Amino acid sequence: MTKFVFVTGGVVSSLGKGIASASLAAILESRGLKVTLIKLDPYLNVDPGTMSPFQHGEVYVTDDGAETDLDLGHYERFITTRMKRSNNFTTGQIYKSVLEKERRGDYLGKTVQVIPHVTNEIQEFVMRGAKADRIDVAIVEIGGTVGDIESLPFLEAVRQMSLKLGPTNFAFVHLTYVPFISAAGELKTKPTQHTVQKLREIGIQPDVLLCRADRTIPDDEREKISLFTNVPLHGVISMPDVDVIYKVPRVLHEQGLDEQVCMKLQLLTRPADLRRWDVLVQEVLQPKHEVTIAMCGKYTDLSDSYKSLNEALRHAGIHNHARVKIEYVDSETLTEQNVSQLAKFDAVLVPGGFGKRGVEGKILAAKYARENRIPYLGICLGMQVATIEVARHLAGLADANSTEFDPATPHPVIALIDEWQDRDGTIQKRDANSDLGGTMRLGAQSSDVVPGTLAHHIYGPVVTERHRHRYEANEHYLDRLQIAGLVISAITQREKLTEIVELPQDKHPWFVGVQFHPEFKSTPWDGHPLFIHYVKAALDHQMARTTSPVKVVA
Ligand code: GLN
Repeated sequence: MTKFVFVTGGVVSSLGKGIASASLAAILESRGLKVTLIKLDPYLNVDPGTMSPFQHGEVYVTDDGAETDLDLGHYERFITTRMKRSNNFTTGQIYKSVLEKERRGDYLGKTVQVIPHVTNEIQEFVMRGAKADRIDVAIVEIGGTVGDIESLPFLEAVRQMSLKLGPTNFAFVHLTYVPFISAAGELKTKPTQHTVQKLREIGIQPDVLLCRADRTIPDDEREKISLFTNVPLHGVISMPDVDVIYKVPRVLHEQGLDEQVCMKLQLLTRPADLRRWDVLVQEVLQPKHEVTIAMCGKYTDLSDSYKSLNEALRHAGIHNHARVKIEYVDSETLTEQNVSQLAKFDAVLVPGGFGKRGVEGKILAAKYARENRIPYLGICLGMQVATIEVARHLAGLADANSTEFDPATPHPVIALIDEWQDRDGTIQKRDANSDLGGTMRLGAQSSDVVPGTLAHHIYGPVVTERHRHRYEANEHYLDRLQIAGLVISAITQREKLTEIVELPQDKHPWFVGVQFHPEFKSTPWDGHPLFIHYVKAALDHQMARTTSPVKVVA
């Protein structure tokens, strides 16, 4: 029978509940348990797919094509269980499902209410998320902060669940904040006392408190928290800021978090073994090299917008014994006059993106990287801009574009699949009012890789990666692009969807564009072959640059 750990958060958001949950999962996994994680999001969007990364951070994509909260990325990077659509749901999804049932008449004439109908639905969704093969422990992270109107139905649902499960089958872990007030020179426990009061009002008594603070919490304060919250002292765990997130499992384990949880759940296991986390931390802290990558995107200061990408680059750094520094270059500000600022970087990266803003700057970045032989990685939109660049400047197709940015372009080298598949001269216009949610190519898809290409060297004969995009390279232009020098290194057999493009290695040391998002599959343990090769190319470029000065093409 699966046992449950419910993780709630108090006082403020952004305390790292996702990392805390993933760390607990990782420690339990190292004790030999089969663990999964489920994230409950208290907003009304059906999924985060339609939300701006400015608002919500990255949209993470699972193998089965679900657009999910970025915490699922932490989960997949920290534990071995793969996440699926059922591992993340929102209030929007719950209401959608309840309302569909109501319309079908499933409630047999009853008045449909938050309690019991919405709370029952939440419990069903949680059970569904935990229903994978022989899961010992499902860790359920409840988004939002205790005290919010939005998360109340979730808390009520898990309270009811705990009653049904019985005391040895659930544990409550509450993440709270202990601020240091510099004027008083003290750590303050009052917000923690209040958030636990709020939780107990709802009927939930936490078994463990994870106390976030900018420092380690001394025993005096821990005792005070224990007394006021009715959580035994050994359950009051200090979670200080750390320089490397991979230290978190060790910090929590040293204070007995997993022991507390296993005792409550009456799970007898072997001891935790966190040696591989220690090795990882050492690697991160003692790099032999450093590379700086220019990331040309439009979300310039919010690293959450490119969370998985940043992580994948760091993982690739670990596997090259290098620290990877990422500098954001706002593509909206890039012009012919200032694009040479990219010369100082060891590599250029154009990440995924939607909408016209900043696209011309990204095309310039691809051109500059191509002409100056700077390693270039284009991801999704980054592949599309590289294709447009080659079309314009090597294939002589002036004004080539994607129909996403210029619907009237004379050369739609990138277009919606139904625009180019039906295309005998005319471009089929899409309904401007069509539904934005759910019209994308999503999730894992495979394709063969052409032998002899750089992509083949990296991936071998088959590539399987996750997608999240609407537009595709237009098959009707591929011949002209290939004659102009672009190599199509992977294309799907049936639909002829271009997956990878590159430049021949005698023309450019490392220039690759991929239509998918490889960053979602990178873990600190294995890294990801594409990113590992890319960071290696950046190191080689740095080496070549420092031994022989480069000639910059303006
Ligand atoms: N906007 C492009 C498309 O929809 C690229 C999307 C992306 O980079 N994820 O095809």
